[in-house]
Amino acid sequence: MVTSSEWAHRPQSLWEDTLLDEERCAEEPFDGSLSVDITIVGAGLTGLWSAYYLAEKLPDASIAVIDAHGVGFGASGRNGGWASALLPMGLQRVEREHGRGAAISLQSVMHDTLDEIERVLEHEHIDAGAQRGGTITAARSAPQLDRVAHEVATYEQFGFGDDYQLLDAQSARNICNMSELRGALHTPHCLAVHPAKLTHGVGRAVLRKGVNLLAPVRATNVRRGFVDTDKGPIATKYIVQATEGYTSQMANQHRNMVPLYSMMIATEPLTDDVWAAIGLTDRPTFDDTRHLIVYGQRTADGRLAFGGRGAPYHFGSAIKSTFDTNHTMRNRIQQALVDLFPALHETEITHHWGGPLGIPRNWACSVDANWEDGVITAGGYVGDGVSATNLFGRIVADLIARRELDHGQHSPSELLQLPVVGPLSRRWEPEPIRWIGINSGRLAARIADRSEQRTGRKSRFWGGFIDGLLRR
Ligand SMILES: Cc1cc2nc3c(=O)[nH]c(=O)nc-3n(C[C@H](O)[C@H](O)[C@H](O)COP(=O)(O)OP(=O)(O)OC[C@H]3O[C@@H](n4cnc5c(N)ncnc54)[C@H](O)[C@@H]3O)c2cc1C
Repeated sequence: MVTSSEWAHRPQSLWEDTLLDEERCAEEPFDGSLSVDITIVGAGLTGLWSAYYLAEKLPDASIAVIDAHGVGFGASGRNGGWASALLPMGLQRVEREHGRGAAISLQSVMHDTLDEIERVLEHEHIDAGAQRGGTITAARSAPQLDRVAHEVATYEQFGFGDDYQLLDAQSARNICNMSELRGALHTPHCLAVHPAKLTHGVGRAVLRKGVNLLAPVRATNVRRGFVDTDKGPIATKYIVQATEGYTSQMANQHRNMVPLYSMMIATEPLTDDVWAAIGLTDRPTFDDTRHLIVYGQRTADGRLAFGGRGAPYHFGSAIKSTFDTNHTMRNRIQQALVDLFPALHETEITHHWGGPLGIPRNWACSVDANWEDGVITAGGYVGDGVSATNLFGRIVADLIARRELDHGQHSPSELLQLPVVGPLSRRWEPEPIRWIGINSGRLAARIADRSEQRTGRKSRFWGGFIDGLLRR
């Protein structure tokens, strides 16, 4: 369990380091006695967006957001800053499980979510260093090119052909001059943001709406009518649990969500010459289609922030501040970055950090309402949460507002009919099966990437092994 005293010891991410004092959101201490209409557990983006839209829809409701550490302590303050239209469930899977119409609606709503985030940033005067440069997903080998072409074809089948385009090597290079580039997928649907500025900015907007923001307060249990905390119980009608990667630390929820670490590095500010060699002029976020995901952005202050998966899963879903840095991972991520952009071979890495993101067993994010206990649980974004938290915040607000104001008389809003509104995933396997399965999948992904790099051919065996182990 991450203790409050560890807050002081966590690594200084680029985002923490460049957050100005006046941009920080000031929480209040909790004196141990409180009664409110709605209590939100977790002051990450899910909790804060929920508070934001709830305060708009139910202006007379009393709302408290509590956090064990503080605003943006979790993934929301530490991430890669891709506010994308991605979700962990691909279009084909959503079609298989919910129908074609549901898949198209969900993707369209994700596209619109970026407009909504931009609208709120402007309306609330939040400078989150945001730029809508889209995303470029590079193909740097024959198997990667196949995967990119398949992705583009899938988007076309669902009517999104204009939004996701296949670029040839030269057109791709004009946007992002990566080594060994053979082509790329390009979409305008991504904002590059400064995650801590975004999260604290939404926090400040929430405070202006009269919401109580309390920290450090750790919820130990949620039950009908109460959130039990380390400082005393909070009496409440509704509870929104927005603890994502930390969910396994809550009472009776040990196997609901696996915390998987994603790690990042940031470079010193790059010179104009280096940027001329790399490109990324409009700040598109970038990745490629290797199995062990990497992701990057050109920051507003002219650095590269770059991250990757592949850090070990810790037995028993453990979370510790010492896991927030990992020197093997740091070196691997730096190597991967220099491999993409050889112009960076002498560039200094100024920051290294990481944090846990939440993975449900079915690899699908969801908002679940348990009205018997008045508990709404939202999250499980599998690393694609920055924009989705905004959508989920609006869904949480619609769910509670409908119950309070409409008593379910009218048909649910468009958002409440989306296929992400539904039951939580089944639970993860007990240990040691969980540890063996997840770490085997991680290893298989590394082997598959190495094999593809070496042979230039798709690694069917290891690719299939990963899908079989880690998907549904
Ligand atoms: C390194 C990294 C890079 C990522 N990059 C991207 C990216 O580029 N794009 C993208 O879309 N997604 C990315 N993600 C995922 C994304 O950041 C998350 O999905 C999203 O921020 C989740 O938001 P959240 O509010 O649900 O959870 P969090 O931001 O994790 O917030 C949960 C909060 O709950 C608090 N909490 C936990 N337990 C308790 C308790 N018992 N009592 C009180 N408070 C509690 C925590 O202190 C924390 O502040 C990344 C994640 C990581 C770790």
